[in-house]
Amino acid sequence: MTEAQTSPASTARPPVVTIVGAGLAGTLMAILLARRDVPVLLLERRPDPRIDATTAGRSINLALADRGIAALKAAGVFAAIEPLLIAMPGRMLHDAAGATQFLAYGQDERESIYSVSRSALNCTLLDELSRLPNAVLGFGQECVGVDFGHRLVRMRDAASGNVYRLPLERVIAADGAGSPCRHAMAAAYAIDVKEDLLAHGYKELTLPADASGNHQFDPHALHIWPRGNFMLIALPNTDGTFTVTLFLPHEGPVSFANLGEERPLIAFFEEHFADALELMPDLAEEFAAHPTGRMGTVYCSQWSADGRLVLLGDAAHAIVPFHGQGMNCAFEDCAILDELLAVLPWPEACDAYASRRRPDTDAIAKMALENYREMRDTVRDPKFQLQKALSLELERRFPGRFIPRYSMVMFHHEIPYSVALERGSTQGAILDELTRGATDLSTIDYTRARALIEARLPLIA
Ligand SMILES: Cc1cc2nc3c(=O)[nH]c(=O)nc-3n(C[C@H](O)[C@H](O)[C@H](O)COP(=O)(O)OP(=O)(O)OC[C@H]3O[C@@H](n4cnc5c(N)ncnc54)[C@H](O)[C@@H]3O)c2cc1C
Repeated sequence: MTEAQTSPASTARPPVVTIVGAGLAGTLMAILLARRDVPVLLLERRPDPRIDATTAGRSINLALADRGIAALKAAGVFAAIEPLLIAMPGRMLHDAAGATQFLAYGQDERESIYSVSRSALNCTLLDELSRLPNAVLGFGQECVGVDFGHRLVRMRDAASGNVYRLPLERVIAADGAGSPCRHAMAAAYAIDVKEDLLAHGYKELTLPADASGNHQFDPHALHIWPRGNFMLIALPNTDGTFTVTLFLPHEGPVSFANLGEERPLIAFFEEHFADALELMPDLAEEFAAHPTGRMGTVYCSQWSADGRLVLLGDAAHAIVPFHGQGMNCAFEDCAILDELLAVLPWPEACDAYASRRRPDTDAIAKMALENYREMRDTVRDPKFQLQKALSLELERRFPGRFIPRYSMVMFHHEIPYSVALERGSTQGAILDELTRGATDLSTIDYTRARALIEARLPLIA
């Protein structure tokens, strides 16, 4: 392996910002910078997903919400993304007998989350970036080391095997949850990094379209089969399919470890997800072929190395996927870092970004973990459903004071995650108090509700 002094893609004018990782956050960050006439070099270890379809992978989708949309709008690319979206204004619960119940997420259809294909989103963002004159993209370019002492980033070009160096100056590490840049930073600086892996894993499967190419369940819902310690979910794709994800413990009596063989797998689906099973003819084949994914939360005490390298998105703060916020939060990071870089010198902007963002990313990490129990278990509880309905009713009666926590996170980008967590906890106590002994909304004491809300929840600015 040889070491060259410069990158094959080093045609951008200095001072160049180098971004490692052309996933969702890295690409959006590059767009934001390039639109401000900042020259950007975006380097990705994989081949270009727009050319090499295999790297785009299976049809895997994500829930896009208001925070992500706000950042896409700030970057001027939402119009290109909008046609890819399918609105999901609520959850569709499936019980073991196949009966369904729709629970709206918000006040009306405008309060919706949106299913979007990860690869279509990534490819569209790359297309948008490619149109900008200040951006240089390099695929098959892997970061293989960061030398903080000599202030160098080592990159390897996959085609030639050559290793070349870039200056460790204005580098944004958007290299995902397993971030090699974060690992290098942790080794060089005395920083605490905690990677809390969940005891549960996930497996992505497909529910095909019908013979006419239509969805076999209502596409305008996020489908959930909550079963206590595990669950199945399904999000619609624009081609009539659903991407189905099974979340289950890795080990234990009901776990991935016990579903290796076809017979127990089918028996398990027959018992718990019969209505989905009958529409999934390739279940056993896909189950065997697809990997079982791991999920976790990354806590990293420092995101910036002297303003030379700064962590972005999952690299800084990966979270579990149960609030559908990892990408949304990463997009919000991009918009905030860009805002700060526009007005502050680099090191100060990086420090300001880290200190402004951390309380919020800590808050969404906590809420994402809490949401797992809600999705797989408590969502079935009549008391939970009463409290959800009451939350929406209180929002109608006391606008600006009471906004359900889920709505603050998903539909109100102007409310920071940390405020949603704090107000959500006050609201939770109020809901507990108001629903004690109540059976439905008509039995709620709204005079008491007004007194509690006005005393404990100041108007949101
Ligand atoms: C099962 C599951 C479901 C999810 N659902 C949702 C959802 O519904 N809504 C939501 O908002 N979020 C969701 N997320 C979270 C979301 O996927 C992530 O938060 C998001 O992808 C983070 O973007 P990123 O750019 O930081 O990282 P990534 O998207 O992981 O991108 C990192 C990029 O860096 C590249 N890279 C890595 N190492 C190197 C290297 N050494 N050199 C060069 N390049 C490198 C990778 O190839 C990749 O392209 C989900 C996550 C999972 C696991």
